[in-house]
Amino acid sequence: MAKKVAFIGLGNMGGGMAANLVKAGFEVNAFDLSPAAQEQAKKEGCQIVETAAEAVVGVDYVVSMLPNGGIVESVYIGTESNPGLLSTIPTTALILDCSTIAPDNARRVGTAAEAAGVRFVDAPVSGGVAAAAAGTLAFMVGGTEENFESAKVVLDAMGANIFRAGDVGAGQVAKICNNMLLAIHMTGTAEALQLGIDNGLDPKALSDIMLKSSGCNWSLEKYNPVPGVMEGVPSSNDYQGGFMVDLMLKDLGLAMEASLSSRSSIPMGAAARNLYNLHKNATAEDKGAKDFSSIQQFYAK
Ligand code: NAD
Repeated sequence: MAKKVAFIGLGNMGGGMAANLVKAGFEVNAFDLSPAAQEQAKKEGCQIVETAAEAVVGVDYVVSMLPNGGIVESVYIGTESNPGLLSTIPTTALILDCSTIAPDNARRVGTAAEAAGVRFVDAPVSGGVAAAAAGTLAFMVGGTEENFESAKVVLDAMGANIFRAGDVGAGQVAKICNNMLLAIHMTGTAEALQLGIDNGLDPKALSDIMLKSSGCNWSLEKYNPVPGVMEGVPSSNDYQGGFMVDLMLKDLGLAMEASLSSRSSIPMGAAARNLYNLHKNATAEDKGAKDFSSIQQFYAK
């Protein structure tokens, strides 16, 4: 018999992920506050329900892909007068929260789930909307070995690379570290390329040199931020699509929060966050919706 999944949060990422679960043979009960998102999920073969509580009845797994930690806590834990889904999810089910949230949010939900007798893993993703639709996301999972093995059955249908980072919350820590490093090498790459351009170099020639030299990195290899150097990347499409500046700022904010609680020094991450804030607000046009490689425009003369 097909395994049943409740999917909560059918936005840019969740919509594609839920569709891939249907394609893999899961029965998916889908819920979102947005009627348009519900309608799209219905077209993809999901069963649409009226409430989140209805979605979790009799399911084997609950997957959530929600905007932030406050919403994740309210959906699962809720309040005394308005309890969340933990009071209704079957105790045989496993929760996989794939949202990007603070490790502390994930740990609070994990602890509340344990108290309610329900298994929980945090499983944030790397990869954007295209990877969500293609089923090629990378998942970074926080939870016990046993829960990780159970989660893989579902994650395999939505992703290409699945890692266990450690106990509950560790998936979120891995995600935050990765995205902080991404912001640092993207800003560094844009800075180096602009220095070359300002000193008379062709950005394509400079990129080719650095790709075979010690400055080589993922941003240069896969995501060159200078328009026209590389085909099929956001910089060559007016920085449309890809990973928004606002989402990068969210992740850098989570890195700052994590560094405060662990008392870690993150001068490069803090600088990257400031650069992205300055870039977002540098002109009358809010750059929040542009791809994060548009940081090149902040350096360009
Ligand atoms: P989105 O805003 O497109 O989707 C979120 C969905 O959640 C919306 O459809 C919204 O209506 C729904 N929602 C909000 N509150 C709800 C509630 N209480 N109950 C049910 N549904 C509710 O956002 P997204 O881009 O899909 O991102 C989702 C998560 O994935 C975020 O945590 C984000 O940081 C993370 N993420 C996004 C990307 C990306 O490229 N978009 C990449 C990696 C990770």
